[in-house]
Amino acid sequence: MSTTLQARFLQVVESMATRAALEVDGEVINYAELGRRARALAATLMAHRESDAVPLTCVLGARSAAGFEGILGALCSGHGYVPMLPSYPAARLALMIDRSEARTLVVDADGCKQLAKVLPLVSRSPTVLVAGGDLDPQLATDNPRHTLVTRDDFAVAESWREPVVDPNATAYLLFTSGSTGEPKGVMVAHRNIVRFLDVVTERYSLTADDRFSHVFEVTFDLSLFDLFGAWTNGGCLCVPDARQRMLPASYVVDSRLSVWFSVPSTALLMKETRTLVPGAFPNLRCSLFCGEALTLAVAEAWAEAAPESVLDNLYGPTELTLACTSYRLHEGSRTEAQGGIVPIGAALPQMRAKVVDEALHEVPPGETGELIMAGPQVALGYWRDETRTAAAFVVPPGETETFYRTGDRVQRPHDDGPLLFLGRLDHQVKIRGFRVELGEVEAAIRDEGPVDSAVALGWPLAAAGGAAGIVAFIDDAAIDTRALKRRLSERLPRYMVPKAIRVIDSFPLNANGKIDRNALLQRLDTPAT
Ligand code: AMP
Repeated sequence: MSTTLQARFLQVVESMATRAALEVDGEVINYAELGRRARALAATLMAHRESDAVPLTCVLGARSAAGFEGILGALCSGHGYVPMLPSYPAARLALMIDRSEARTLVVDADGCKQLAKVLPLVSRSPTVLVAGGDLDPQLATDNPRHTLVTRDDFAVAESWREPVVDPNATAYLLFTSGSTGEPKGVMVAHRNIVRFLDVVTERYSLTADDRFSHVFEVTFDLSLFDLFGAWTNGGCLCVPDARQRMLPASYVVDSRLSVWFSVPSTALLMKETRTLVPGAFPNLRCSLFCGEALTLAVAEAWAEAAPESVLDNLYGPTELTLACTSYRLHEGSRTEAQGGIVPIGAALPQMRAKVVDEALHEVPPGETGELIMAGPQVALGYWRDETRTAAAFVVPPGETETFYRTGDRVQRPHDDGPLLFLGRLDHQVKIRGFRVELGEVEAAIRDEGPVDSAVALGWPLAAAGGAAGIVAFIDDAAIDTRALKRRLSERLPRYMVPKAIRVIDSFPLNANGKIDRNALLQRLDTPAT
């Protein structure tokens, strides 16, 4: 069996040439055509490559044929891909390009529109392949240090030669929120993701007849299930258009999806808008949720809407390659759920879970502690950050394997019961499934204020440590909070920008003299004055 993502994809291109691989923007693209476009882009990247470049290519694009070609082209060129969304602020995109050190960048039409703002901010000068959209000739004049390659100048697919890629090489580098104020890049190897795909292909019997949902952004690792669950099994990735994204229930039906994968928040929204009607999704055979706590109420409503489907609660951080535990909803789930939250179940095959105390010693059954995990899905670490890698990827006492410290509080089961997710041990919060380190928001507020102290909190609170948004507190009445919010939105993705910034006289302190975050949360229960 091949050991890289692109080798798996190219095998399917050969064996399933005429089957649909991708439905996007009203176009149906078969495997032969997607393979041709990926090879052409890869050959172009390889022709423009500098020999000493890091083996990473940034892809600035979202939900477009050109964006997917960029991902596949980067991989077929032997590089890992670094996904970036055109909707991100230009300053953040430039920071990500610089931090990745990539010297090649592929853009789709929306990404192309961002170039005029992004390129002047990038300190390196990557070669840009314009896979979608029309290039404004002025851009080349304004950015003489960058080489811009348009589609007309792309190489032909036949000129592509397959590069040798080590299964230990990075397949994708994903930037996640970092508590010290800068996003951190998680490096995931081909062997990690190929292993995960093997596990889910078997667990869900994925085949060429499957039609996959795609509601995740490509910057979220869960999107790799959609893309490569489809493209390594000959299935079809069904990309929703703008209307379908607003109306996910009609998307499931109209696109005849057989496999659904989303954060629970998407299902909650459908439940709240009364579109989770019993029997509404008769074609679904797999319903998968991951990324944040799944409530029993949402799971049961979904199960009624999709009576022919299995429903799994998957759990896992990016550092453990999408998901590393799973729990299947069944008749006994009501007794196994705690506080209305569906358990996260047990480790996937070959992964090992341990629940430990602060000294990394296993706690007794029934006790709570931090979940740490080892096995073939443990990622390579953080890009150019040995200190943080060493702190999070550890060998506990009495072990020889590397475990990743998830920072999640769980209850160790008795006997063979399921693991229960209880929340976070730190200041990370899930905002509708997006992972946010509140420390990063606070650092941005301190910088942009400028203010000495800022506290960001997830609010209103949702199930098990999640939140619907962010509210921040500062203690400097001289700051124009509206202008501050505007500056923050030029720097942070929208979901990280506080919905409200409240000014208080002084921060409440706890017995240790630290800012009392719980006391601040209590103030949010009362209307702003
Ligand atoms: P990310 O790296 O963005 O996938 O975020 C990983 C974090 O999301 C985990 O460490 C958990 O805190 C949370 N998470 C993921 N899946 C679940 C789940 N099924 N239930 C509760 N929390 C989850």
